[in-house]
Amino acid sequence: MAGIYFHVPFCRKKCTYCDFHFSTTFSGYRTPLLELMSSEFNQRLNEINEPIETIYFGGGSPGLLTPKELEMLLKEPLRIAGNQLVELTLEANPEDVTQANLSAWKTLGINRISLGIQSVNKDILRWMNRNHTVEQSISALKLLEAYGFSLSIDLIYGVPNQEVSDVLKVIELLDLFHIEHLSAYALTKEPNTALDRWIQQGKTAEIDDEMQIKHFYTIQHELKVRNFTQYEVSNYAKIGQVAKHNTNYWEGKPYIGIGPGAHSFDGVNTRRWNVSNNQRYVKQQQWFELEVLSENNIWNECWLTGLRTVNGVSLDKLQSLGGISSKEAEELKKLMVEGFLRLENNQYKLTDSGFLSADRLASVMFRV
Ligand code: SF4
Repeated sequence: MAGIYFHVPFCRKKCTYCDFHFSTTFSGYRTPLLELMSSEFNQRLNEINEPIETIYFGGGSPGLLTPKELEMLLKEPLRIAGNQLVELTLEANPEDVTQANLSAWKTLGINRISLGIQSVNKDILRWMNRNHTVEQSISALKLLEAYGFSLSIDLIYGVPNQEVSDVLKVIELLDLFHIEHLSAYALTKEPNTALDRWIQQGKTAEIDDEMQIKHFYTIQHELKVRNFTQYEVSNYAKIGQVAKHNTNYWEGKPYIGIGPGAHSFDGVNTRRWNVSNNQRYVKQQQWFELEVLSENNIWNECWLTGLRTVNGVSLDKLQSLGGISSKEAEELKKLMVEGFLRLENNQYKLTDSGFLSADRLASVMFRV
């Protein structure tokens, strides 16, 4: 079992660029929804056929849950996982990090925090409509370090008017605090976000691809210098600090997603999608869909997820899915000649520049 994912669909504010599933008005149904998430887990125990090794609270903003709410959600998963559990991650924002929360999180067994810093430029934070300040980020890092959590921070690059020096200032936090994991995401224009609207209205310029590429290579270089491995398109870690939960997704291992908008995969060929609508989830009517993947879907996912990671796509795996055709072999050869791919230890892997366009490269190998 790769793990259990809890999607907490609440946020205090709506960030400019965000298209995740969440609501900012939830006080009327918060408790019933969380209780239903707990009962969804209990209803789906028959789907757990292997030890639970990881639990991940994502969102939304799981950091705004009270210790009692977290305890309620964790009670059964922790009992079932027992001592097989190796990683229990909570996504938190700097404003969630208080002494009281940290002691409670420790007591509950949370051992890894993914902190949504995004930027340490106050103007960029304001543009992003984030709910925290630069000062809150710094004091959160101090507290988290003192409590000894395994720590990851998020950074968003390619933001309008963001200088390379702004990106570097976030990276420099790695030198000041005991942070051994960084997730760096390129800003993207998603439909129905404020960013999308602003671009349509001409209030914000289109995302500057050249600037994003420059930021991407800066991050890649600076992290390499600091002995971080780029083990996935957006993720860098020191030795032993790779995020196990997310790595299991990319390796096609099974996981159960609980809550509105959460996805699940049985590790073979079936995906489940919970409805991205809090009210429908609470009513539990037509609240999830199942999808059985076709052979082509499985092949495409193998490229899409495998090529995102440092391990790449193995020839053995491709062989087990029927092997590559001569036309596909030609395409692969072309990508290698162009310097995007390499074949190492029977694995097709991205080169440093290949990481910049992993999805596009994977799509070359798609079957329809
Ligand atoms: S980026 Fe995070 S905090 Fe901001 S709206 Fe999206 S889920 Fe909520």
